[in-house]
Amino acid sequence: MNLHEYQGKEIFAKYDLPVSKGKVVTSLDEVEQACTDIGGSRWVAKAQVHAGGRGKSGGVALCDTIEEVANFTKKWLGKRLVTYQTDKEGQLVSCILVEECTNIADELYYSAVVDRSSREVAIIASSEGGVNIEKVAKETPEKIASISLNGKDISQGDIEKICSTLKLNDTQSSQMENIIRKTVSMFFECDLSLLEINPLVIKEDGNLHCLDAKINIDSNALFRQKELQEMHDPTQEDPRESEASKYDLSYVSLDGNIGCMVNGAGLAMGTMDTIKFFKGNPANFLDVGGTATQERVAKAFKIILDDPEVKVVLVNIFGGIVRCDLIAEGIVAAIDEVGVEIPVVVRLEGNSAEKGLAILSNSSSKIQSKNSLEDAARTAVELAR
Ligand code: GDP
Ligand code: MN
Repeated sequence: MNLHEYQGKEIFAKYDLPVSKGKVVTSLDEVEQACTDIGGSRWVAKAQVHAGGRGKSGGVALCDTIEEVANFTKKWLGKRLVTYQTDKEGQLVSCILVEECTNIADELYYSAVVDRSSREVAIIASSEGGVNIEKVAKETPEKIASISLNGKDISQGDIEKICSTLKLNDTQSSQMENIIRKTVSMFFECDLSLLEINPLVIKEDGNLHCLDAKINIDSNALFRQKELQEMHDPTQEDPRESEASKYDLSYVSLDGNIGCMVNGAGLAMGTMDTIKFFKGNPANFLDVGGTATQERVAKAFKIILDDPEVKVVLVNIFGGIVRCDLIAEGIVAAIDEVGVEIPVVVRLEGNSAEKGLAILSNSSSKIQSKNSLEDAARTAVELAR
């Protein structure tokens, strides 16, 4: 689960990390009071969306007057911001973070992330901040320090390595050590999978300061992070994905036009690979789970059909624990409710497959059944064209 920058900074502040004084506004009326409360004579206004790249897309503005903050707020509130990290629809801006403007001498990069290959948390820091870190890693790898924690511990040597890569002086190095230690505590205590400060800046007065905050919480740990879970903002998610998660369906929306309904994550990936093999494109990943009920199958089918890009649905179910006839009844229930205008290709295999196929073929002329996954995928790809 992602957090907004302002929420991330609220947690940073609790951990005594240096962040700018700021206020969140959700309407134009609040701008003047917010600027007055923050004080100073320059502000930065930042559209809050679950995506980076806002600076390059006009979603961050340095403002010399309250009027400029108001104009920015008027321009963005309720609109959608498109950045290189969003899809073409962009993300809804439902609030703006107004902060005191920081005078920057240098922009650095800092992050902590779960490194699956070493099964540890990795810390990545670079003297090149405010830019795409993948690009820095490719072009100037010497500007990046990447270290792997040992459990929750970080050695003094690793801290020194980070500080020397960032070319910090003694005062800054002790500030950096503080930032590293506190972000590591926060990482474990809050069950994060990513914590990124890009840029971490050196202010004109020489002090380190967190100018941005990107935080990702491991969704599997949300049951024990109730306070963080309350920060969830469903407006930042694909509406089909949030609807699916209410029913415990693993649904991820993709760019293609072949809707997929599969049970089991491995089978779902195999199905997508097979579609790709025949030069087709899946519209989604969907795992209805090993214990799919008729109700959840019906819901899943409706979610797939709700995507206007979907030209054909491919159902690939292996009846192991689940019975294929129950799946078939779920599909029929969904079709009864929403109707189906597009072809549906079905491959049912295993437990009660024949019964399931009979139920389906009696229910709609749009449904055709295939015996093998290859056949089904090839047919779906042809129909999608
Ligand atoms: P992102 O583009 O979505 O990652 O948004 P950031 O929060 O990183 O802001 C983008 C850029 O705006 C930063 O890299 C800075 O260069 C600039 N910026 C943000 N806040 C301030 C500020 O307080 N003062 C100045 N001078 N620049 C800022
Ligand atoms: Mn940033």
